[in-house]
Amino acid sequence: MAKGFNEHKERLAAIQGFGKVLAKRAGFICEWCGGNEGLKPYDLAPEREVEEETLALLCEVCRGYAGGGRVDADQVRGYEGALWHALPLIAEGAARVLARTNADWAWEAIDGSGLDDTFKAALQKTRRH
Ligand SMILES: [Zn+2]
Repeated sequence: MAKGFNEHKERLAAIQGFGKVLAKRAGFICEWCGGNEGLKPYDLAPEREVEEETLALLCEVCRGYAGGGRVDADQVRGYEGALWHALPLIAEGAARVLARTNADWAWEAIDGSGLDDTFKAALQKTRRH
């Protein structure tokens, strides 16, 4: 028990340690929607070692979307730009949230983005008609 707990604490400390680097990289705005409320690092790849490219600086709303649940299509209009983020995990994470809106414009944005074709194809399979 103690081991798992300590590992969790160490991971959180490692993530916090990237706070300043991420804030600078993101220009102090949310890397998905461009908002600036309650910005914090978000762990995009919990199964991987903590690195700068596995973390996103996200606002409170986007961290909620990242965690799952219903997505309001109007609130994620700003995500289209995030699909072009230089770091694939950030672009793919934004695409997954957009896909959950199931809005036509969202699918068009994903389709027209520079995301990896294999990733796009896998995401398309989750589309509801
Ligand atoms: Zn956001």
